[in-house]
Amino acid sequence: MEKVRIFDTTLRDGEQAPGFSMSAGEKLALAKQLERLGVDVIEAGFAASSPGDFESVKAIGEQCEQATVVSLCRASISDIDRGVEALKDAENWGIHTFLASSPLHMKFKLQMEPEEVLKAAVTAVEHAKRFTDNVEFSPEDATRSEPEFLVKLLSEVVRAGAVTLNIPDTVGYTTPDEMYELILRLRNEVHNADQVVFSVHCHDDLGMGVANSLAAVRAGARQIECTVNGIGERAGNASLEELVMALKTRQSFYGLETNIDTAQIYPMSKLLQQITGVGVQPNKAIVGANAFAHEAGIHQHGMLKNALTYEIMTPQSVGIKSSNLVLGKHSGRHALADRIKSLGFTLNDVELNQVFKEFKRLADVKKQIFDEDLEALVTHGVQNHKDRYHLEHLSVSSGTTTIPTATVVMKIDGKPQKRAGFGDGPVDAALNTIKEMAGVECRLTSYIVKAITGGTDAQGEVSVGIEQNGQQVTGRGAHTDIVVASAMAFINGLNRLEARAGSVSPMAPVRAVMGGV
Ligand code: MN
Repeated sequence: MEKVRIFDTTLRDGEQAPGFSMSAGEKLALAKQLERLGVDVIEAGFAASSPGDFESVKAIGEQCEQATVVSLCRASISDIDRGVEALKDAENWGIHTFLASSPLHMKFKLQMEPEEVLKAAVTAVEHAKRFTDNVEFSPEDATRSEPEFLVKLLSEVVRAGAVTLNIPDTVGYTTPDEMYELILRLRNEVHNADQVVFSVHCHDDLGMGVANSLAAVRAGARQIECTVNGIGERAGNASLEELVMALKTRQSFYGLETNIDTAQIYPMSKLLQQITGVGVQPNKAIVGANAFAHEAGIHQHGMLKNALTYEIMTPQSVGIKSSNLVLGKHSGRHALADRIKSLGFTLNDVELNQVFKEFKRLADVKKQIFDEDLEALVTHGVQNHKDRYHLEHLSVSSGTTTIPTATVVMKIDGKPQKRAGFGDGPVDAALNTIKEMAGVECRLTSYIVKAITGGTDAQGEVSVGIEQNGQQVTGRGAHTDIVVASAMAFINGLNRLEARAGSVSPMAPVRAVMGGV
């Protein structure tokens, strides 16, 4: 059966979205899981954008054994040289270069005439071709470009040596019918089109990223650029898990296959959520908490007789292990380790010990521990020893007649510190006190509390958005006491800010200056 190449840009386009910046170590961990998932190409970053990005593209290139690793590069000699420098020691690598082709982008962003764009694109591809056979070219904002100009430009870059032509719907503007027509036309009219692979890169601004990508595939595209959980600029990119499962579940219709090991989809999704602190909505296709939950009575009745009545694919096929097993006070370390593994998390012994300790604490106050509780424990309970701030003790007093007061003991750089403070309520008092102790200038942009499972003994999960100098992070915490959960979330966010500050430069400002597809 014919194959569609999966090109993952979670580490490049995904990382460019505010709140998703990752350290080099985190990107490497994700790249390794992307290899287990079986993606064909990993776009590891934008080597010329910052020294941090360069180092992480280099490290990923050197450590990946199966996937082809590429760097995005503007159509300039110096960008391409930087990409080549980062990747030249990799097992399999390539260069992805781009230049805008729409009248709007050429005139206002590039301030270049179409003829100059043609020349610059050809020069860039020829230059990249000196170092690698694997050169991909993207006309940025292709779906708002003049089709005649696209044909001319793409014919020229094929002549210059490009082997993959990627058609980006950079601003998420096109529709499935138009995308289908465009790819067909380009395959017909571009010079030597049968010698190259057509690719698409679709954004989800109108909620059509996946539909547009599949329309392109129907028209003959054989590479799809996408991201895990659909993360990416603005509304995000076409989601990898949705595309892969659509091709698999509807194989009789598409007649195509991918190299993806679908049982690795759920662990991949979880790892990204764990690393970025940003979860997916419960109704997210394939990986959302409700994606395989059949709660309506009529559905359950049908499901009991034959799962196929309402289930087009099984949770097992995407790596969700179904089990009614509920853990409690007497569950041992082994049972916990097994369950955590089947939920898609990979923990080392130190982390497992931490989670086990937290699990015992939780089991003392909560009778039944569900999968959701365990996920929260793993996501929030694993304390990174490199973290600057650790919560040691928190007590608050509040009520109808008292002034809300918080007493906090927090380890900062390993030294215990103590302080008390006030606020409008217990959460405000706790967060104010922590912020004063940390001495960090930052702004709370969002605060969300939700109950993880039912019952008044449920854990509360708090997520907070924190912004500092244009850098955005999400902190999360969970506890049966929501004030403690709030403090944990805030401290988690402060640690994330700290980790980002030392290791990566935020991609968002880069995007404004350098562009991307
Ligand atoms: Mn993009």
